[in-house]
Amino acid sequence: MLNNRLFINGFSLFFVGLLVTSCFSDSEVSKEEVADFEEVINIYSDRHYPIDDTIYKRFEETHNIKVNLVKGKSEDLLARIEKEGDATKADLLITADVGRLYQAKSADLFQAVKHPEGIDKVNNYLYDQEGYWFGITKRARVIVYDPEKVNEEELTSYEDLANPEWKGRIAVRSKGNIYNQSLLASIISANGEDAALEWVKGVVNNMARPPKGNDRDQIKFVYAGKADLAIVNTYYLGKMLFSDDPVERVAGGEMEIFFPNQEGRGAHINVSGVGVLKASENVEAARKLIAYLLTPEIQELYAQANFEFPVVDGVELHETVESWGEFKEDTVQLNKIGENNTLAIKLFDKGGWK
Ligand code: FE
Repeated sequence: MLNNRLFINGFSLFFVGLLVTSCFSDSEVSKEEVADFEEVINIYSDRHYPIDDTIYKRFEETHNIKVNLVKGKSEDLLARIEKEGDATKADLLITADVGRLYQAKSADLFQAVKHPEGIDKVNNYLYDQEGYWFGITKRARVIVYDPEKVNEEELTSYEDLANPEWKGRIAVRSKGNIYNQSLLASIISANGEDAALEWVKGVVNNMARPPKGNDRDQIKFVYAGKADLAIVNTYYLGKMLFSDDPVERVAGGEMEIFFPNQEGRGAHINVSGVGVLKASENVEAARKLIAYLLTPEIQELYAQANFEFPVVDGVELHETVESWGEFKEDTVQLNKIGENNTLAIKLFDKGGWK
């Protein structure tokens, strides 16, 4: 595996060199800049979206810093970083949920770094003020519903989904899913522990089946007529609408999206984000990468290719995402969501959410 990676890296260095010598006039990158990757940064990432590879490749080309990427599940990556300790090669951890970022911060795996360039254009609640982690893309966890079964007027809030009128109508994934844990953490933040437990019990009562599958599976389940609505992250609907799989396209096309709690605190927001690991000695290169991820150009790539919301204002959304309209966001500081994660897991257990 390692040998393979080395081979591929060696090969791509050779290829970049070839490209620059053969078409230098077309390139804005000077020969000197790509003569040699003097710096290398190592990223551990649980993001599983293809656009990320393109983004790191561009960073290599524009900054002359080689990016080594190790992909894995967030819990495995966190365990690995802990085990590797000071010997870890990882400079940055990128994960798709603030729950994990907070976990890394509390386990003392991150170091506080000086705010990267561009962070002043990001809303305060989307990053750690002390510099332990920074949001790079934004998503909302929302209701996707079958308009033949649900009237938009019936929908109001996450809280309302615990009411008996939704019995047998809700599709949602398991308690082990960090997106759900963060959603519940936001409900704890807003309503307190007791109300959050009641909410869990109410939703469990209303589930169309015991939790199973990922977010897309919930939407397909609704399409199959077995539930009326699903609780999912926004970008999965976007991905389905443009999927290579015709079933996903048709299923997604039948759905409508609803942003809950518009009369109150707003829809639950989460981020994919990044932190610099405590053991990293490449802090400056790591900060350059974070700043790069916050540039309008890269924010637009995330938005266009992955249907996510930029964390930086003024970046164009994908037209499908744009068509969903503006909505009010729950702006609770996301560290709070991380802080409530352990309690959220406890309440899921207590309330019988599988
Ligand atoms: Fe995801």
